[in-house]
Amino acid sequence: MNKSLISLLTTLLLFSCNAPKVDIAIVNGLVIKNADIVSPLSQDVSSNNFIVLDGDSIAYIGQQEPHVKGTFTTLDAKGKFIIPGLIDSHVHITGTDALSEEEEIQNPEIVAHYKNQLPKSYLYFGYTTIIDLGTAHPDRLQDFLEAEIKPDLFYVGGGAVIGNGYGLTNWSDEVPNFIYQENEAYPIPEEYQKENHTPKAVAKRVGESGAIALKTYYEPGFDPTIPSFPTPTFELMADIKKEAHRNNLTLVVHGNSLEAHDFLGQANVDVIAHGLWNWGKYSLGDSLTIPKEIQKVLDTEIENQVGYMPTLQVINGLKILTNASFLNSPELDHVLPQDLITYYKEHSETMYANIFGDAPKEIIETNFTRISDQGKINLMYMYKNGGNILFGTDSPSSPTYGNPPGYNGYLEMMEMADAGLPLNKILSMATIENAKAFRLDDKYGSVEEGKRANLLVLNKNPLLDITAYNDISHVIINGKPINRETLSAAGRKD
Ligand SMILES: [Zn+2]
Repeated sequence: MNKSLISLLTTLLLFSCNAPKVDIAIVNGLVIKNADIVSPLSQDVSSNNFIVLDGDSIAYIGQQEPHVKGTFTTLDAKGKFIIPGLIDSHVHITGTDALSEEEEIQNPEIVAHYKNQLPKSYLYFGYTTIIDLGTAHPDRLQDFLEAEIKPDLFYVGGGAVIGNGYGLTNWSDEVPNFIYQENEAYPIPEEYQKENHTPKAVAKRVGESGAIALKTYYEPGFDPTIPSFPTPTFELMADIKKEAHRNNLTLVVHGNSLEAHDFLGQANVDVIAHGLWNWGKYSLGDSLTIPKEIQKVLDTEIENQVGYMPTLQVINGLKILTNASFLNSPELDHVLPQDLITYYKEHSETMYANIFGDAPKEIIETNFTRISDQGKINLMYMYKNGGNILFGTDSPSSPTYGNPPGYNGYLEMMEMADAGLPLNKILSMATIENAKAFRLDDKYGSVEEGKRANLLVLNKNPLLDITAYNDISHVIINGKPINRETLSAAGRKD
């Protein structure tokens, strides 16, 4: 190499070293260097970035090294991948996994261990934001909110239901925010004032409670031998939507049957909290094609861009009751306390019988595999035709050990990948698309300056390998990096 070339290179090198640094003043933060950021917006990887976190927000992202003033620690992310923390937009955190209220009373130690572990279990699998989609008792979220380390939690307030409809049996439950629909068969009991149970009054209360969404139900019932529950009219649903939006709330509606999806697609609600796996009198044949009656309903949802949560794990969670060997999965040790796993092992037959009676396991297994396939085929139809698919697991959806907190999200992702959904779609659904659907995208859903410092440091690229979501190095929650292993329930002594 000749001298002049060496001096030119030296000059260039010096020049690049002397490039003016960006000054960033922070109070207390974290600097991540060598960060390869996977964007759920552009769905590609931006290499060698510096990310500066200040408190609970992202202060700087760039390939130019910043000059940081203030107190901070450094994390070298060389060879790793940074994604926004995941959002599960359909969970229920007020109970103790699959235990009934009676079992909770009988097993206070298990309940205490579970509640202590629950926030960490969501974080262990990268869920830094969760949305509790339905408690009528927000005070029951308090244990979770008091935990030192926890995901950001949002909720839907009172869980508005149609007077005496699904979820409000015989007016006996305390559901302060039920919506009353005039019905001669179900006159409103004297102790309630009708004017407190209009869509307008309920949406206002739910909005003022700090909730981000208004949840209601379209559920005629699951048992054909008893009369149907009352369901809302189109007129009432339009009114609920108008009032929800007036209070800046997303309208989320429970529904999983053909009848429900048909109604809710036409009613153009914001989000349907379940996939359409219950096809009524139709069923998936050997040709694996969707009957045109089902397609028509999905087409309306696609046209109206109704948010569609496939919730595949609801069906799989029930199906797994036929196979208690699931309780030996090593992943369960990370998300459930040992005494709860032992309890499940001892009661697995009872749990099966509580749901399926004395139906042979092979028949349940076959039927639920078919229903699960129906859910997956619908998911792919929604995807291929531009549907608005959202990521929500409904954990736990029923009294089953098959929807463990945190791990259930990973199982849902694996099922989606198995159905054929591209990995970039899974990432965007579980981040930015959920954030948009729930009006949280000003702070959540992508790695951008000004957004919440909730990030995952993965050992693999999630655009190439679904198991990246179970290969997490660090979970960064509100700017604090946590080594994943410290979130595991395994090794806890109590
Ligand atoms: Zn649910």
